[in-house]
Amino acid sequence: MQMLVLGAGQLARMMALVAAPLDIHIRAYDVASKQVVHPVTGEHYTQTLEQAIASSDRITAEFEHIPSDVLAACEQSGKFFPGKKAIECGGDRAKEKALLDNAGVPSAPYILVSERTHLEQAVNELGLPLVIKTCQAGYDGKGQWRLKSIDQTDEIWQEMQAFLDKDASHRIICEKMIAFDREVSVIGARDAQGNVKVYPVTENEHTDGVLTLSVAGIVSQDMQSQAVDAYSKIANALDYVGVLAIEFFDVDGELLVNEIAPRVHNSGHWTQQGAYCCQFENHVRAVAGLPLGCTYLLQPSAMINVLGQPAIPAEVLATTGVRSHWYGKAVKPGRKMGHINVSANTLHELGERLGELHEHLSEQDYPGIEARAHQLI
Ligand code: ATP
Ligand code: MG
Ligand code: MG
Repeated sequence: MQMLVLGAGQLARMMALVAAPLDIHIRAYDVASKQVVHPVTGEHYTQTLEQAIASSDRITAEFEHIPSDVLAACEQSGKFFPGKKAIECGGDRAKEKALLDNAGVPSAPYILVSERTHLEQAVNELGLPLVIKTCQAGYDGKGQWRLKSIDQTDEIWQEMQAFLDKDASHRIICEKMIAFDREVSVIGARDAQGNVKVYPVTENEHTDGVLTLSVAGIVSQDMQSQAVDAYSKIANALDYVGVLAIEFFDVDGELLVNEIAPRVHNSGHWTQQGAYCCQFENHVRAVAGLPLGCTYLLQPSAMINVLGQPAIPAEVLATTGVRSHWYGKAVKPGRKMGHINVSANTLHELGERLGELHEHLSEQDYPGIEARAHQLI
C-alpha cells in the first residue's frame, strides 16, 4: 500500500519507520517546498502533489496548518483520513472550541476577539490574567500573549490589532488563565468502524511553551476514565479515523481540555517503547483500514525532548531502558532535534534511571529530569 503524508517532518518520518514492516510505503509532501520527499532520507521524488494523490491508496497528515487548496484536493480524492474537517478543527481554535462545546467536553472559558470591545468584555467576564492566542497560527506556545494587568491592555491590543489587520481571515481567542495542578494528555486511535483504543494518560511538563518531559503510567484510574470519556466524545463527533491527541489541564482532579491535535503527538512518543503498539503504528493502521493495535502500557516510561542540541550524549544510550530517536534536521536553537525514551519495570526504577540520565543531561538543556527522578524514587 502507498500512503501519502502531508508534512515531511519527524512525525511523518516516525510513521514511515513503523509502516515498512506492515508493507506500507510512505511518501511525504513538504507543504513549504511543495515537493514530494522520502520521509526518512529526504530524497526528492519527481512528482507533483496531484500525481502523488493519484498514486496513493491513502492520505493522511502530520500537522494541521495545511493550505486549504491542498486539503481540498486530498479530501476530494476520498482517500484522506482523518479528513479535512478534523484537520481544520485542529488548526483553528475557534472551530476547535465549537467542536468541544458541541461534544459537551469542558474546556477553558473563552471569548473570540476581532475588535477592542471584545477584549474589554473578556477582561470583565473572564477576569485577569488572560491567555490570548491566535486562532490559526500557533504551535509550541508561539502566537500567544499573556494579559496580566489592566495597564498592559493598550500595548497588547496594538499587537493583536496588527496581527488581525494582516489578513482578513485572522482571528484571536481570549481564554481564562487556568490555575492548573499539572498538564496531562491522552492519545488514542479510532478506526473507520468506530472502534476506539486509548493509551494511558501522560503527564507533561512544558518549558517556555515547549514540551520538555512526558511521563506515562502515573495517573489515577479516575483520571484515565475522564480522559477516555472526553476522547470518545471528541473522536466520535468528528467521525475520526487515525490517532488524535487531547491536551488537558488537571484542575483539582477534574480534566479541562486545553486543545486537541488531529494527529500523532509529541506527548505520545513514549509509546514507541512503553506500549505494545506505538501511536505511529496505530495511526498508520487506522488510516490503512487495518485493525488497531493494543494500547496497553508495557512499562512505565518517560520521554525527554532534545531541543537545539547537536547530538544525544553517547553515555545516555548506555543507560538501561533508553533508546534514542533522532530526526536528522539542521540544528537551530530550541528546535526539536530528537527525543529520548526511557522505560523501567516500576515507577521507582524509572525514577532511578532518570536520576542516572540527569548525570549526562544538564538541567539547563533538559529541564525537570532531576525533580521528576526525586518524585518517582
Ligand atoms: P502545542 O505545541 O502544544 O500545539 P500551542 O502553541 O498550541 O502548543 P497551547 O497548548 O494552547 O499552545 O499553549 C501552550 C501552553 O501554554 C500550554 O501547554 C499551557 O502550559 C499554557 N496555556 C495555554 N492555555 C492556557 C490557559 N487557558 N490557562 C493556563 N495556561 C495555558
Ligand atoms: Mg497546539
Ligand atoms: Mg498545546
